[in-house]
Amino acid sequence: MSTQPFEPKPNVAPGLVQIGASAQQSIEEIIQRRLAEERARLEREAGVQQKAIHQFKKPVERPFTKQQRGHTTLLFGGLTWKHEKLVHGALEGLGYMAESVPTPDVSAFQAGKEFGNNGQCNPTYFTVGNVVQYLQRLEEQGLSKQEIIDRYVFFTAGACGPCRFGMYEAEYRLALRNAGFDGFRVLLFQQSGGLSQSDCEAGLEMNLDFFLGILNALNCGDVINEVGYILRPFEMHAGQTDETLDRVMDYMHEVFLRKQPYKLGDKLSGYLGGFKDTAEYIGKFVNQIKGDDITAALHHCREMFDEVEVDRLRVKPIVKITGEFWAQTTEGDGNFNMFRFLEREGAQVLVEPIGTWITYMIHQVVQKYKDTKGLEEGAVLPPLWRLDKRLAIEFGHRNKIAKLRLAEVIFKREYHRLIEALGGLGHHLADQYELQRIAHPFYNSRAGGGEGHLEVAKNIYYSNKDLAHMVLSVKPFGCMPSTQSDGAQAAVVSRHKEIIYLPIETSGEGEINAHSRVQMALGEAKSKAKGEFAEVLEKTGLTLEDCRRFVDEHPETRRPMYQVPHAHGVVGTAANFVMHIAGRIAKEGWTAKVQVSSAAPAEEQVEVLQ
Ligand code: SF4
Repeated sequence: MSTQPFEPKPNVAPGLVQIGASAQQSIEEIIQRRLAEERARLEREAGVQQKAIHQFKKPVERPFTKQQRGHTTLLFGGLTWKHEKLVHGALEGLGYMAESVPTPDVSAFQAGKEFGNNGQCNPTYFTVGNVVQYLQRLEEQGLSKQEIIDRYVFFTAGACGPCRFGMYEAEYRLALRNAGFDGFRVLLFQQSGGLSQSDCEAGLEMNLDFFLGILNALNCGDVINEVGYILRPFEMHAGQTDETLDRVMDYMHEVFLRKQPYKLGDKLSGYLGGFKDTAEYIGKFVNQIKGDDITAALHHCREMFDEVEVDRLRVKPIVKITGEFWAQTTEGDGNFNMFRFLEREGAQVLVEPIGTWITYMIHQVVQKYKDTKGLEEGAVLPPLWRLDKRLAIEFGHRNKIAKLRLAEVIFKREYHRLIEALGGLGHHLADQYELQRIAHPFYNSRAGGGEGHLEVAKNIYYSNKDLAHMVLSVKPFGCMPSTQSDGAQAAVVSRHKEIIYLPIETSGEGEINAHSRVQMALGEAKSKAKGEFAEVLEKTGLTLEDCRRFVDEHPETRRPMYQVPHAHGVVGTAANFVMHIAGRIAKEGWTAKVQVSSAAPAEEQVEVLQ
């Protein structure tokens, strides 16, 4: 037994006992455990139990492989039925099985609320709920959940950004899981990814053929859709436009279905050896910008549309639709069926093409490159005397911008080629640089998310260019970028007093309220259109009767594809038509003109038209 006395260490307070490090650690653990137990007990009692916090990780999905293509259907949606029909044709033409989900309705919205997160924006509820409902219907038709999960994938756009669009993918997954379709595959067409889609699945080859096919389908969808909206308000036989539109869409669907991507012939490929891929790539581009298979098909559609007889002397206010991308595109409950409502109320609707959005995205990338020049991660500016290195950086930067500018030019050229092929009735795409210039004083054009500065820009652009009597912006509830731009619109309308601008918040409910607000603003737009028409009659010295007689004697003017130029300062279709008639009379002479003096005053003649 040791006789050595116990000597405490000098840094321990007298009366305390020094214990070993391991004993200290275990005491600490006991304290922490008891604290945690006590905290849990108190939280249980207070009903505020904390859940474990986990970092969100994108679930690892089963891949969609090439082998599955033959028995896996690609679901997609979110556009108009016209765009979707052509995208369907393009996808099937490329060898995919595809189906578009129907236009979302209020019950889809309710399903979105039931299965998705709270506090989402309107389009999220509608589109997410729509997919859930579609799968539920498949189940009702007899497919098991597992069969649906195995045989279908959903293909959608995705993005990262300040608005909820960045969360769509996660929302789809959550709602699908909550609805019992855990493991259902969601494939992303990254909105900001350009041509090099890094996370694409092998089953879905996002190559040049795929992009060209989708872009051509969207562009054709845009121009055909617009022609439908241009003709319907003036058709002389009710329903003729829609009936023709159905035939046109069936025909164009077949065109896309049969369209085969450009390929080098076997013989030529043999000669080119290692350059085969590059040559084929170039060949596809050349075929796109020089080929006439789609334009020839649209010529045929032009003839079909030309059978619709129109009366251009109907005075109608033109209402330009702007707002959030989905809300301004969908043709259903998502925007209170606004387009048909406006037409029933006597308006001509000027729809927004998807092409504007595509050029906007390219434009924003150009801006980003310009703004972040030299600020790329890890970039170090070489010293002044290393001119060679500085020039190389400058060249690289300019090269990137030049490629994007070229893409902009080619896209617009292609788009406008389609408009011309379909008779030249549609509007050309608004210039993004002009949109930026007019919006920037009100809304910073670098503020991304949603439509960014476009909502403000379009309001000014369409009003100032004499293209619309009224601008109606459809804004989904809970949409952050749209709410922001609404603040800026207050400044826009106070600066441009002539603009009739109405923002409408769209949601799953409140249709009657929204329609009655639109009716009120439309009343103002109608009187603007009538006043303009009366002014034009006054100015040209023509009467309504003169114009009608002129049309009777010149039946070609009843054809939709008859070209009526846009007169400076004149908005309405009828007013522009009268200007045109006056121009023709002045040029060609026309003896059958009745005397102006015998006619009623211009305002009264307009009333007769209503
Ligand atoms: S723009 Fe607005 S409505 Fe559209 S996804 Fe973003 S937050 Fe939602």
